[in-house]
Amino acid sequence: MSLANRLEIPADLDAWLRETRRMIHMRPELLCEEHETSELVQKHLTELGVSFRKGVGGDGRPLYMSPEIIERAGIKTFPTTGGTGVLGEVRGTRGKGDGKVVLLRADMDALPIEEANDVPYKSQTPGKMHACGHDLHTTILLGVAEVLSGMTDTFDGSVKLMFQPGEEGAGGAVAMIHDGILENPSVDAAFALHVTSELTPGNVALGAGPHAAAADTFEIRVTGKGGHAAFPHTTVDTTLVCAHILIALQTLVAREIDPIETAVVTVGTMHAGTAHNIIPQTAKLTGTVRTYKPELRDYLEQRIAEMAATIAQGFRATAETVYLRGYPPMINDPEMTAFAQSVAEELLGVDNVHYGKPMMAGEDLAFVLEKVPGCMLSLGTGNPERGLIYPPHHPRFDADEDALAVGVRVLSAIALRYLDADV
Ligand SMILES: [Zn+2]
Ligand SMILES: [Zn+2]
Repeated sequence: MSLANRLEIPADLDAWLRETRRMIHMRPELLCEEHETSELVQKHLTELGVSFRKGVGGDGRPLYMSPEIIERAGIKTFPTTGGTGVLGEVRGTRGKGDGKVVLLRADMDALPIEEANDVPYKSQTPGKMHACGHDLHTTILLGVAEVLSGMTDTFDGSVKLMFQPGEEGAGGAVAMIHDGILENPSVDAAFALHVTSELTPGNVALGAGPHAAAADTFEIRVTGKGGHAAFPHTTVDTTLVCAHILIALQTLVAREIDPIETAVVTVGTMHAGTAHNIIPQTAKLTGTVRTYKPELRDYLEQRIAEMAATIAQGFRATAETVYLRGYPPMINDPEMTAFAQSVAEELLGVDNVHYGKPMMAGEDLAFVLEKVPGCMLSLGTGNPERGLIYPPHHPRFDADEDALAVGVRVLSAIALRYLDADV
């Protein structure tokens, strides 16, 4: 029997996947608050007889920023993982040897977005929505648990199932890594899926190398001398200083970075002043920096602070920059990407496996792929005929649930082939 036939999803499992996805979709929980979702995951793993550890990464430590950065940024409260991380493990029983260990990841958190879809399974929590497809990711990994736990006699080694909290900015993966998920037994490779509206069910995309960007933030605090708008000579105008810094920052990528390289510097907010006739004492800019290469990241961190400080100095003001490093770039390992591609082609057909171009968004799986080789694939969940065209993070994002079975099959096939299963 071929791998594709062997991984045919029975109708009752397919129905269960759709129902479960809707259940999770209707009860979205924000980052590090995924208690109900975590309980649902644990309940299902228990029913399947899959061993798991709960509360993984939930020891309350700051997730990925160093203590001195947190202090410098004046962050008073910092999210902890909330104790919702779950690590399941399906162990092979073939008995031919020790075998390897492969980790598959799903994220469980929703976004602070009001859902604009009018569907029976619409979010029942105002202001919260599964707009990034993590309801599908979690459901798919539960489906994988079911498929693989029924095939343990075909492989040795084990499959670790990582259900992580706080993907949307909290670095839940880091807390789980700190808590030892990559050890005992030590993980050889890691894979994950992320939904995309750009492809339809039955299609996946992937690409080797940098795939999601390092996503950092900065805040520039300008201090001058406030006063009356009609007596500018007695003041140091921080609004004007901010304007000069803003324009100068846009020259960093344009004039200091090799045009062949990729980097983004965006100033997203600029706050100064309270009234038309007052020159403000202080002003503030915040923005984000996206890069793939560590040396460019270091360079921009240094130059943003230098530029802000020296421009402010030229205007007799001061500027202090706080730079917060977010997720590192996510690098898909070339060998693991080629491997995943070959498995996807075997399962879905060559025509349905596409090249996935890099994007400048951040992705928490980056922390896992820093430690072990692996790859993230994009799973087609779009359907233009049904109006399912909106991208993740959009209030009208929704997914074609035909993709659930595809996701289960792809991840199961990758794990089975990686463990050299008899399939
Ligand atoms: Zn997202
Ligand atoms: Zn996401």
